[in-house]
Amino acid sequence: MAEKISWLSLSNDVLEDVTSYNEEYKDFLTKAKTERLAVKEIIRIAEANGFKDLEEAIKNGTKVKKGDKLYLNNKEKSVLMFVMGEKKLEEGLRIVGAHIDSPRLDLKPNPLYEASELGFLKTHYYGGVKKYQWTTIPLALHGVVYTKDLKRVDISIGEDDEDPVFTITDLLIHLSREQMQKKLAEGILGEQLNVLMGSIPLADDDDDDDDDDKKDKSNRVKANVMRIINEKYGIEEDDFKVAEIEVVPAGKARDLGIDRSMIFSYGQDDRVCAFAGLKAILDMKQGEHTALAMFMDKEEVGSQGNTGMASYVLENALHELAALEGEYSALTVRRCLKNSWVLSSDVTAAYDPNFDSVYEKNNTAVLGGGIAVAKYTGSGGKGGCNDANAEFLRDVRDIFDKAGVAWQTGELGRVDAGGGGTIAYLLSKYGAEVVDCGTAVLNMHAPNEVTSKFDTYMSYKAYKAFFE
Ligand code: MN
Ligand code: MN
Repeated sequence: MAEKISWLSLSNDVLEDVTSYNEEYKDFLTKAKTERLAVKEIIRIAEANGFKDLEEAIKNGTKVKKGDKLYLNNKEKSVLMFVMGEKKLEEGLRIVGAHIDSPRLDLKPNPLYEASELGFLKTHYYGGVKKYQWTTIPLALHGVVYTKDLKRVDISIGEDDEDPVFTITDLLIHLSREQMQKKLAEGILGEQLNVLMGSIPLADDDDDDDDDDKKDKSNRVKANVMRIINEKYGIEEDDFKVAEIEVVPAGKARDLGIDRSMIFSYGQDDRVCAFAGLKAILDMKQGEHTALAMFMDKEEVGSQGNTGMASYVLENALHELAALEGEYSALTVRRCLKNSWVLSSDVTAAYDPNFDSVYEKNNTAVLGGGIAVAKYTGSGGKGGCNDANAEFLRDVRDIFDKAGVAWQTGELGRVDAGGGGTIAYLLSKYGAEVVDCGTAVLNMHAPNEVTSKFDTYMSYKAYKAFFE
């Protein structure tokens, strides 16, 4: 291998690229706070770059050919983007697969209640969170609600500077003697993740129904919260039952460090790899093989559901593409998947010197070390992992080295420390060659996560080289 690629080896031109890439990345993080918002932003960018809706092509029976750019919007929660290659589909794809869901708090179907003249929303956490981390920080609400006359209402509160924010309270330290003796996992419990919404009771003359008013003097704060929501959005309390509203950390992605070398933001697992995959498929030169960038949902809860990687969304899309390529046969799709190469583009842990005991330093990715290739993930002795083949690793290394990509190996942590998984195993079942390959992150799954701008840029370079 040639000279080690690092911050110090980058020319001024490349450093400028790193900066501008990360400015765009921060903008993406700020806009794509939920999987639905990520899909909206990805499709906006895809369309602006000449990608056409695959559903339209299917409807019109438009034949696909080399260079065609297509996207599939899967229920506004996951997206596939294709650039058709020189070779036929059955020769396999080059796939970069990321996920766009992140740990968060979802509103329950009956969320709104009042306790001691404070209004709250009940939540159910989504994905792996340290619950105590979600208290005392500014929170925003995003989601979609349908009214009884079937009207769709998009909700977004807490991101604009003019917006109010929300929060989950924690106990004052002065009265925390008992709480502080508890295990970290039990200091804040799931049913305590209640979002503070308001504290002013509804005024008597604000009530339309005077009879009701006389009977019910309780829950006036809750009534006032609902009045304001109703005035702003035209929705009723009953509409929460059919809504999807997510509570996420409020605010923008920021530069971190006096040298501005890092990014501090919510949702970098895995929108860091999603954005790199998006930029890579937009910027790639025409490849021999069809390129596919995937932006999947539900990874944080096991990839099930019709928007996750365990669904048939990819297979269905490939059957449609095979039909549009001509001479349709189910065998084409089987061969296509078997002959595909996949980078399962998900984040891995960056070594944190504050918590040395859970890492094995020689085999953990470091912040600023380039994109991390993880041969295997899993827990308790590689349990549940995809373990990439040496032959595929050989080829991936060759691609990265020839393209001047800084890369390192990564293992989630010490053998017995814990573990995790990705979408890798769901694609390897077809016979495709798959390896986990993504950006290293500090405080993964915390309300704000940390990445290196060098690594985010190298992830983009790696995926672009892989597509080409
Ligand atoms: Mn992930
Ligand atoms: Mn995760």
